[in-house]
Amino acid sequence: MEKYKLGATGIEVTRLGVGSLTMSPIQRALSVEQGAEVILHALARGVNFIDTAQMYGSYPQVAAALRQWKGELPVVASKSAVKSAAAMEAAVSECLEQTGLGRVDIFLLHAVKDDEDLTARRGAIDYLLEARKKGLIKAIGASSHSARTIQRLSETPEIEVLHPMYNRDGIGILDASLDEMTAILKAARHHGKGVYAMKPLGGGHLRNEAAAALRWVFASDAVDAAVVGMTSIDEVDMNVGVVMGESISEDFAEKVAGQPRRLFINSSLCRNCGACIRACQQQALIPGENSPSIEHGRCILCGYCAPVCPMFAIRIV
Ligand code: SF4
Ligand code: SF4
Repeated sequence: MEKYKLGATGIEVTRLGVGSLTMSPIQRALSVEQGAEVILHALARGVNFIDTAQMYGSYPQVAAALRQWKGELPVVASKSAVKSAAAMEAAVSECLEQTGLGRVDIFLLHAVKDDEDLTARRGAIDYLLEARKKGLIKAIGASSHSARTIQRLSETPEIEVLHPMYNRDGIGILDASLDEMTAILKAARHHGKGVYAMKPLGGGHLRNEAAAALRWVFASDAVDAAVVGMTSIDEVDMNVGVVMGESISEDFAEKVAGQPRRLFINSSLCRNCGACIRACQQQALIPGENSPSIEHGRCILCGYCAPVCPMFAIRIV
């Protein structure tokens, strides 16, 4: 599989990376062995890029795959949402210890919300600079759902790699259109930033058009790569097939899209505003203490609740 330079970092990644959120304990909760099997299959098919994060709880799955992998070490990216230098030091140590790596290729500020949030993370950036000097990480990055924040991050000299929300339908991109996000990313790449897209399948909402949505992102010159959450061998095979330009049969695409899916509300993002409850015609969402509860037996995965969520807290996984 062809590799792309991630900006000026010197890191080369395959166009497709394997995301470990959907397999993690906070989403589909694959066992360590099952998660490792999916990652290993992706590596065996030529993928060289694994994306994880402190909050996913997927380090054990990544570690198990890396222990068994006999080929060249893949590029590993991780992230943390902590703000202080001490907390970021602990986050990097946790990642190194739990993955068994001697160095993490890319360490990102996770889900930066806005200017104020970025300013509040100065300590975390300072520690990442120190960690890079010590050789504990190779490059510093940041992720965000906000186009304005991605713009700000692209102007921040310490940030070498951007990980924006980016998909064909602009699902989940806050505060700007898809075209505006595309222009921001192209300019960032032009100025030497590495860019890898998150949620090219819109957090599961494009699952029935997955091959077309992936073709779109892989054809884009706004990103160097895209990481896709994968939870099965079939998903890996389909995604690899797309990036290799193979034709995907309708039956196979339907089989992959038809895997059991369920609605998921990220309670750490949810503001409990109730908009999704009002949008659901099936009475599948009921008020809860910190976030709505889902009556999975009633949910028909129509997706009507997702676009009304101001926090992009609703996913189909
Ligand atoms: S996906 Fe549809 S049925 Fe399920 S909770 Fe959302 S609006 Fe209701
Ligand atoms: S719309 Fe989003 S933020 Fe509001 S209650 Fe539903 S999940 Fe939470």
